[in-house]
Amino acid sequence: MLPDLVAKTGSEILLNNTYHLLLRPGPEVVAQLGGVHRFMGWDRPILTDSGGYQAYSMADTNSVDDEGVTFKSIVDGSSVRLTPERAVEVQSQLGADIVMAFDDCPPAEAGNEQISESASEQIGEEDPRLTRAIRRDSRGKNYDHAARLKTANERTVRWLERCKAEWVRRGSAGSAGEQALFGIVQGGTDLGQRSWSAERICGIELPGYAIGGVAVGESSEAIAGVVRHTAPLMPEGKPRYLMGVGYERDIVAAVLAGVDMFDCVLPTRNGRNANAFTASGQIRLRNAGFAVDAGPIEAGCDCAACSPGLHGWATPGGGPFSRGYIRHLFMAGEMLGPILVSLHNVRFFQRLMMDIRRTIREDDWSGFADRWPQARAGLAGVL
Ligand SMILES: [Zn+2]
Repeated sequence: MLPDLVAKTGSEILLNNTYHLLLRPGPEVVAQLGGVHRFMGWDRPILTDSGGYQAYSMADTNSVDDEGVTFKSIVDGSSVRLTPERAVEVQSQLGADIVMAFDDCPPAEAGNEQISESASEQIGEEDPRLTRAIRRDSRGKNYDHAARLKTANERTVRWLERCKAEWVRRGSAGSAGEQALFGIVQGGTDLGQRSWSAERICGIELPGYAIGGVAVGESSEAIAGVVRHTAPLMPEGKPRYLMGVGYERDIVAAVLAGVDMFDCVLPTRNGRNANAFTASGQIRLRNAGFAVDAGPIEAGCDCAACSPGLHGWATPGGGPFSRGYIRHLFMAGEMLGPILVSLHNVRFFQRLMMDIRRTIREDDWSGFADRWPQARAGLAGVL
C-alpha cells in the first residue's frame, strides 16, 4: 500500500518490526538512508518493537540467558545476539518515535495443540515459517511453566532497567532525537505474576507502558481476563498499549478495561489472503459465490475500494471495485487484489476505532453493539 493511501484511511502511526529490519537490510543501512521515516516515506509517527518477540517465536534455534538472547537468522542462518542495550541501540539507529523495551517472552501456558490451532488461524496460510516455529516450541516433560514465567518476569524487570540506562545514555530521552521508551508488563495468564510485573515495570518512570505476552494463542476470554486485571494497575495518565491485539471483540474489551493503543497484523495479513472484515464477520473473497457479485466488499463502507468516488477515483459512475472483480484478481494472482482488500481492512479498523471513541463520549454501547455485531462478545460488562 502506498503511504498516502495508508494515511488516508485515518492511520496515524505505523509499527515497524525491529527483528526484520535488524536482519535485513540492517539498522546501519536504514540509518544511512535517513532513518525509518525517510526510508519508507512515512512522515507520521512510527513505533518499533524490540525484536524480542520474533527472536523467541521465529528463530530456528535460540538460547536465552540473563544477558540476552542468541538466535539464528531466518535470512542467512547466521547467529544474532540481542541484549537490552543492543535492542535500544538498534531502535535508536532506526529512529522511530516510540521504542519498546527488550523483554523475555515466555511461551503461552496453553497446551501445544491449542496454541498451534489458534495461532495458525490467526497467522493464516501465508507464514508457515512462523506456524512451524510455534509448533516446534514444544516442551520436554520436565518443562515447568510457572518457573519459566517467574524467571522471565524477573529478567524483564532487570532488562528494563538496562534498557532505560542505555536510552538515557544515548540521549534518546532528551528533546533532540527524542524517542519515547515504553516498558512491557509480562506474566502470562497468571494474574499474580501480572500484578508483580505491573508494580515493578510501572515503578520505573517512563513515557508509556505496554501489556505483552497476550494474543499468543489464548482464548478471547483469557485475553480479556488478563487485560481487565492488568490495565487498571498501569498509570492512568500515560498511554497503555496492548501488543498484538487483535480482533474486534478483544479490542473493545481492552478499551473498556482502559487500554489506549493496539497493533495487529490482521488487517493486512488477512487482506493479502482475500479475507475481508465486515461488521457482521469476515468474508473469504476467493469463494465461488462471489464470482458474479457486483457489490462492494461491504455496503456502506467509505474506503477507496468500496467507495472510490468519495476519494476522487474515476471509476465508472464512481462505483465500487466489485466482489466479483476482486475475486478474479486473487484467482489470477494479481497484486491489486491484496491491495484493495488491505485498503478496505485497514479502513475497517479505523472506522471501528472512530466509533469506539465516539461511543466512549456518548456512552451508548448497545447502539455500538448493533453497529458492530462481531464486537458484541467483548461488551459483556456494559450491555
Ligand atoms: Zn471498504
